[in-house]
Amino acid sequence: MHMENTLIHKPLWLRKKIILGDLKPMEKLLSQGRVHTICEEAMCPNISECFSQNVASFMILGTVCTRACSFCAVSRGIPLALNPYEPENVANTVQHLGLRHVVITSSTRDDLSGGGADHFSKTVRAIKALDDSILVELLIPDMKENLLALQQVAVSGAEIIGHNLETVARLYHVRKGSDYERSLRVIGKLHILNPDIAIKSGIMLGFGERDDEVFSLMEDLREVGCHYLSIGQYLSPSHKHETVVEYVEPKRFEYLRNRGMEMGFSYIKSSPYTRSSYMAHEYLETR
Ligand code: SF4
Repeated sequence: MHMENTLIHKPLWLRKKIILGDLKPMEKLLSQGRVHTICEEAMCPNISECFSQNVASFMILGTVCTRACSFCAVSRGIPLALNPYEPENVANTVQHLGLRHVVITSSTRDDLSGGGADHFSKTVRAIKALDDSILVELLIPDMKENLLALQQVAVSGAEIIGHNLETVARLYHVRKGSDYERSLRVIGKLHILNPDIAIKSGIMLGFGERDDEVFSLMEDLREVGCHYLSIGQYLSPSHKHETVVEYVEPKRFEYLRNRGMEMGFSYIKSSPYTRSSYMAHEYLETR
């Protein structure tokens, strides 16, 4: 499933296997529910582990993205019209899977006024209408910093809202169409718009970032009110995507996590296979 784009060999700690046969029951269930997952669209290396435990993270607003991040496996181009039934389809599938903590993300939809905030909000409402005790985590695009859109998401009823910085400011060429400062402002605005929600961000290591740059990023996140952080290893989806500059050793993930916790984050998950939605239930347990 993964074609590595790197000049260096994958180290021993990055040998998780994807067993395609294991994915079939979940794939069938998701397709019958007419929902998409970021697990499949982003070719997540944890997919066997998560799917075998009936865990999945949903992707709404379609599977075609209007931006072109060079690290991302999600298709890019001209998206299809929104599926008005998607919020209910997601809610029904969440209930069917028995998820108690659900993560919902999306493609970036710069073509939609409001960036799809309305659809996010409808999806939260549909889930909460079925069972108000299900915890909902949204991982949103920057929505071009549209205040009304951010407000709609901030008061949607979701318990956690995330927006990923993805990498340090110097390496933002891998996030074409995005802007480090704008993403920081988005996180800050979400916190101000609803101080009751937990705010999360995520980054990947392996683009050539230095420790001091990661510390600055962490300080920036703390300053705008971010509570949680995920740190994982970038794996290149294909030879057409951004090259892996470095496979970061597990002990450096641990070191960065400890330094970040000293800066006041409530929880940081940091390991080579950490992804924004990986073991997502752990974060709130620390609140
Ligand atoms: S880590 Fe997240 S994206 Fe990856 S398979 Fe698990 S739930 Fe899906």
